[in-house]
Amino acid sequence: MSAERASRSSPEPPEADSASAGSPVTAPHGPPQHFPHLTDRELFERLGWFISIRWFAGAAALLLVLFGWYGFGVHIPPQPVVLTIFVLFLYNALFLLLVTDAYRRERVSRRFIIGNANAQIICDLVTLAALLHLTGGVENYFFIFFICPMVVAGELLSARNAYAHAALGALLIHAVAWSEYHGLLSHVPVGAAIGAETYHSWIAVTKFTVALSLLLFAVVFLESSIASRLRQREEELEDAHDQLRELEQSKSFFMRKTSHELRAPLNAVVTLLQTIETGALGQCDHRIQERLARARQRTVALTRLIEELHRYAMLRDQPGSLPTERVSLADAVVQSVRFYAPMAEDKGLRLRSETEPASVQGNPEAITELVGNLIINAIQYTPEGGRVDVRLHSNETVARLEVCDSGIGIAPEAVDRIFDEFYRAENAKRLFFSGTGMGLPIVRRIVRAHGGTIDVRSAVAHGTTFIVTLPLCATDNALPASPAIPS
Ligand code: ADP
Repeated sequence: MSAERASRSSPEPPEADSASAGSPVTAPHGPPQHFPHLTDRELFERLGWFISIRWFAGAAALLLVLFGWYGFGVHIPPQPVVLTIFVLFLYNALFLLLVTDAYRRERVSRRFIIGNANAQIICDLVTLAALLHLTGGVENYFFIFFICPMVVAGELLSARNAYAHAALGALLIHAVAWSEYHGLLSHVPVGAAIGAETYHSWIAVTKFTVALSLLLFAVVFLESSIASRLRQREEELEDAHDQLRELEQSKSFFMRKTSHELRAPLNAVVTLLQTIETGALGQCDHRIQERLARARQRTVALTRLIEELHRYAMLRDQPGSLPTERVSLADAVVQSVRFYAPMAEDKGLRLRSETEPASVQGNPEAITELVGNLIINAIQYTPEGGRVDVRLHSNETVARLEVCDSGIGIAPEAVDRIFDEFYRAENAKRLFFSGTGMGLPIVRRIVRAHGGTIDVRSAVAHGTTFIVTLPLCATDNALPASPAIPS
């Protein structure tokens, strides 16, 4: 934002819509803080992913039964098998519900993730044991699928916990195989297509149970060692992330504190210079007065820069601290255009606006600042005789604000940098030397704090268009969709 721009006071923020004026003071938008730790987020995402995989696994099992029955003459009793797979779908739906509900209520703790993973693995092992029995027992080599829950256990749980699941898996395999051997469970023959009848041979049963049990422990061992290394790296990353955040916070605190402390003495200097300039302390000659005026202008510019830094640090650190209400974006546009019209007229520019009604949930001062900053930039960077058009349209969900000028434009290599703090393009510095390069970073912070997006299209010497989209108020459109479960 430039010194000249800042030296004009902003238009009053638009009136809050009576419908929701005074609504609770909350963050305008932004993702809820479901996960205090990155690792928890990662684990929770995997939990969702395993639920998705289970749907496919259930469907694949059904298809296998069909193929086996019709294609290869494997005569598995269909009803109990289908019923077991139906139970699998049922508990999977239940887990999905639990996980979605915890996510919505922001109650995802490490304990919840571990508990849910344990429950999922136990259900899977019991289901697999039932399917093992219903599809030929020791004769069915497809039961290497027992390793799938072990992979999940090794990845999500502690090594001790994962070995406990391997032990449970081995126990269930032994229970099924030896119960069939001893006749406690009646063997379900599946035909020669899968394997010869070996359930009554103690050597075959021993080979099957021991091999499968060892396989389960081996998978858990491999998976846990890989996962523990990954987890260690994740924790290191998380520590580095926390340190970076702390550093950022102290940087911002320093920025806020310094700018706050500097404002008062600088304002005092401006007042003092003004007093001397007006001759209240005695007349001074023309040359001194001219220098005093220049010193005052520079000090005013410095004060504005410091105010912008303070504002920027506030928006960066505490975007959620802005009080919000229902704000008419159309009113903000109309008032800003009216406010800056004399400035455009002084430069011989044609300033026009075209608005549709659109309200957003937001902070009125911030919205006015956002619109004002874009208009003032357009006026500032458009040479005499040019035009500035401000358009506001909306569809069912978002408001789209376009500020379009026929000005100096932005070079392609500068477009990516104009939202960086203090950045000013070369052509802008030539046209207008006292800018601060803080206007657009503030605009972007405001847009983000309101859950919107900002985009820019520009051609050097032809003009620039800034496009801002902001989500409309919930009552202006359908309610926003509930957060999706990461999967
Ligand atoms: P300032 O205007 O004080 O320089 P801003 O952060 O508002 O700071 O803008 C950053 C830079 O983006 C400007 O210096 C200029 O190079 C470029 N810019 C912004 N708006 C326009 C525009 N409408 N036309 C051309 N360049 C622009």
